[in-house]
Amino acid sequence: MELMKCDITELDVDAIVNAANRMLQMGGGVAGAIRRRAGEEVQRECDEWLRRNGPVPVGGAAITGAGRLRARYVIHAVGPVWGDGDEERKLRDAFNSSIRLAEEHGVRSIAFPAISAGIFGVPREVSARALLGAAADYIRSGRCAVPRIIFCLYDDETYRAFSEELGRLG
Ligand code: ADP
Repeated sequence: MELMKCDITELDVDAIVNAANRMLQMGGGVAGAIRRRAGEEVQRECDEWLRRNGPVPVGGAAITGAGRLRARYVIHAVGPVWGDGDEERKLRDAFNSSIRLAEEHGVRSIAFPAISAGIFGVPREVSARALLGAAADYIRSGRCAVPRIIFCLYDDETYRAFSEELGRLG
């Protein structure tokens, strides 16, 4: 597990995770950055996925290509909105859904943003606890079909919250 302070669209990994909404509409935050850099192809693939499967449940994920990005895939994970209830479990579900899709597509390196800690209003400490906890459980499970798991944090405060939580995990 690695923490980086960076723009997730610049990473040279097999898959990056988008902090998506249920309708897979890429507006602001991470989604907006991915759309600008990857090109409209990713939004088109999202629209196609939605036509076939309907809205993604909270805690679920969808996978598309990554357009012009260096990554091969974008995994669109849907986190909870703060106030929904059961936010930590839903964030863990979003992590697990993403890892499952990554495994199915032979992904060996994946980068996650601080899902729900932006527009969705979940405190960064809660996002950190849930996502790092889920990643630690995954690594401890010994399956580890995805050996490289990065958390890509965009601002100092979020990077600090994730660092402190990782310290607590030991
Ligand atoms: P959500 O709607 O799930 O809250 P956001 O995209 O609004 O998702 O924000 C999630 C986190 O991603 C926030 O901490 C935000 O600062 C961060 N973020 C925004 N742009 C980027 C980027 N280009 N790379 C990595 N993280 C980003």
